[in-house]
Amino acid sequence: MINHYTTGYYKEPGPKLDQESPFESMMQRFRFAAEILNLDEGMFHFLASPEKQVTVSVPLVRDNGDIEVYEGYRVIHDNVLGPSKGGIRYSPDVTLEEVKALAAWMTWKCAVVNVPFGGAKGGVRCNPSEFSDRELERLTRRYTASMLGIFGPDRDIPAPDMNTNEQVMTWIMDTYSMNSQKTETAVVTGKPIILGGSKGRKEATGRGVVTTVLAALSKEGRMPNKVSVAVQGFGNVGSVSARLLYEQGAKIVAISDVSGGLYNSNGIDIPAAIEYTANGRKPLEGFPGGDKITNEELLKLKCDVLIPAAKEDQINRKNAADINARIIAEGANGPITANADNILEEKEIMVIPDILANAGGVTVSYFEWVQDRQGYFWTEERVNRRLNRMMRDAFDNIYKVSEEHDITLRQAAYVYAIDKVATTLKMRGIYA
Ligand code: GLU
Repeated sequence: MINHYTTGYYKEPGPKLDQESPFESMMQRFRFAAEILNLDEGMFHFLASPEKQVTVSVPLVRDNGDIEVYEGYRVIHDNVLGPSKGGIRYSPDVTLEEVKALAAWMTWKCAVVNVPFGGAKGGVRCNPSEFSDRELERLTRRYTASMLGIFGPDRDIPAPDMNTNEQVMTWIMDTYSMNSQKTETAVVTGKPIILGGSKGRKEATGRGVVTTVLAALSKEGRMPNKVSVAVQGFGNVGSVSARLLYEQGAKIVAISDVSGGLYNSNGIDIPAAIEYTANGRKPLEGFPGGDKITNEELLKLKCDVLIPAAKEDQINRKNAADINARIIAEGANGPITANADNILEEKEIMVIPDILANAGGVTVSYFEWVQDRQGYFWTEERVNRRLNRMMRDAFDNIYKVSEEHDITLRQAAYVYAIDKVATTLKMRGIYA
């Protein structure tokens, strides 16, 4: 009888062996920045505490009639700069703790790129690959129904994240709209283009990663066609980053996904790899054109640019000393733990932090929200041009702060973001 429950709410996530808590990683960096800014203690506590943490039980009737219950979360870290914004992930090991960290990261990320949003994140602890499309739809609609008092185009705006996509966003939009009795496209971003999505949104995170890599290379006086690149993860972010750098003439020496990695010192044919994986639907395994390597070996390769675009906790205190890249751009959220930061700094590796490097996604989410509210849609060329400009400006702002205080780009990004949110909060004051 007990076994009957193993796919649902009753399954505790396995311990994340050797992992450092993402929330603790975020707090370590936040504390450092708060000290530089001389942030007063009350302000520190305000900004360290999520404004709202919602946990719900999401019942699902499986296709065979069984009822299972999953845990769902939405954490609003803050809405000081504007409505809160952030993705929703479906994953068997997502926890409230992780969602709390990711929500805070969204606050800092929006502030870094000067997008007028606060930060949030959501998740449902489930394995979506076990579900049929109808089950996934029912789960999504029920989760959305539980969040009707939280979501809203002027309140809290979800987006895709790990294992959620355009279709999931459409179900959220439809459920919210049916309950509002009017179509509210601006309640989520990352929608299909025919339903109020933005051109360029799908590519935006990878495109933003590449803009920051090109900006970093130009600071070092290096041309993109003279560099070697390793990319961990070949999903939306990794494959787009690899393709755009390949188009700039960079040599992509290694790529990988869950099935393992591929190395070729002469460079991998990225368009062919994208074709082979059919836009991320098929694993890279079996793709010719390179020697097999593991994900761990990929991280340690000697190369100019390393882009970890897979998941959290990939570079940690155990392997940081073995990293041989000159520049790391964090395509994923939190691929480097706080304990690895110092080791990489000692090795003089330039790290473009996640809250800057992968902020292209939320930037075009902002464009999508603006277009939905105006009912006027932009060309792809306009989206990409504005994205490039915002990412480039953000990189320059953060670079300047890092030079002013003689700190890393990550520390500078936190200083910039926390200063912006704290200054705004001071002006607004605490409502009592
Ligand atoms: N989930 C993405 C992120 O972590 C996008 C969030 C959004 O567009 O709201 O940045």
